[in-house]
Amino acid sequence: MTRPNAPAFAIPTDSALLSVRDLTKTFPGRRRLGRPSAPVRAVDGVSLDLGAGETLGLVGESGCGKSTTGRMLVRLLEPTSGAIAFDGQDITHVPQRRLRPTRRHLQMIFQDPYSSLNPRQTVARIISEPLLVQGTSAQAARDKAAELLDLVGLSPEHLDRHPHQFSGGQAQRIGIARALATGPRLIVADEPVSALDVSVQAQIVNLLERLQHELGLALLFIAHDLSVVKRICDRVAVMYLGRIVEVGDKRDVYDTPAHPYTRALLSAVPLPDPVAERRRERIVLLGDPPSPAAPPSGCAFHPRCPKAQEICRTRRPALTAVGPASRQAACHFPENG
Ligand code: SF4
Repeated sequence: MTRPNAPAFAIPTDSALLSVRDLTKTFPGRRRLGRPSAPVRAVDGVSLDLGAGETLGLVGESGCGKSTTGRMLVRLLEPTSGAIAFDGQDITHVPQRRLRPTRRHLQMIFQDPYSSLNPRQTVARIISEPLLVQGTSAQAARDKAAELLDLVGLSPEHLDRHPHQFSGGQAQRIGIARALATGPRLIVADEPVSALDVSVQAQIVNLLERLQHELGLALLFIAHDLSVVKRICDRVAVMYLGRIVEVGDKRDVYDTPAHPYTRALLSAVPLPDPVAERRRERIVLLGDPPSPAAPPSGCAFHPRCPKAQEICRTRRPALTAVGPASRQAACHFPENG
């Protein structure tokens, strides 16, 4: 029997470690005054590839669907439709028990380190848990947890402490150690520094950068801070209202953005040079992002776009090549094309 949301693409045999095609996630509307409200399409046709050892930044305003996308990629959330392939294997609908051998290669780092760590468990238990699930003995898992604490810059003497005994930065290091426990090949890091003090954000970004290089990890780095993404990522994908509107090599996207939304986001990133900062033009977007429960017709960005024309209100632009080979943008009138 063919499933209605069966994958609509051939599993790629090229170098991509992760391939995603037409991924969607629709949440049912909440009941208001006894009536159901419109369903919310949080992710609307996302396609992307991530190579082994590559870092891809997924950026956009709060509520654009980037975290929902990340959770679907590691199968913490079931997609409504679309397909996910990891290392050439279709994992879109693999039941959780059968997914276990693949799960060890797919891990996640969460935004809020405290709420993602069980307060009643010791650090040893938290880090060991994914290993115990995979069948590792208790002593071997504890030894590995001590080794991982050292790797992320904490002392193995901390094994028997609880999460509340650590600062936010230290707790995030424990979250990173847990994600590394099973030797993953891909980590989805969902806003891993945004809940931390500015003073420790750079330390955690440095740590992730070092680990990514040393361990050859593929990293999907979800963030709204474009300066952090610029530092750590090879490629960048920009999301707006559930869709990717621009994707390309970091240098192309940051130096010559093609989509008006990318231009607006970049114009708000502070420049280190105060003279350049004073001179540069800031693009102020009108209004808030529209609700995904009632997306605008045509190009979803048109109500806020300074370049919008009549066609933008009626025809949705597809993600197509603009300029350098690796860059794509979804705009009828892209810059730098
Ligand atoms: Fe703006 Fe039109 Fe491009 Fe959408 S398609 S980003 S509204 S110019």
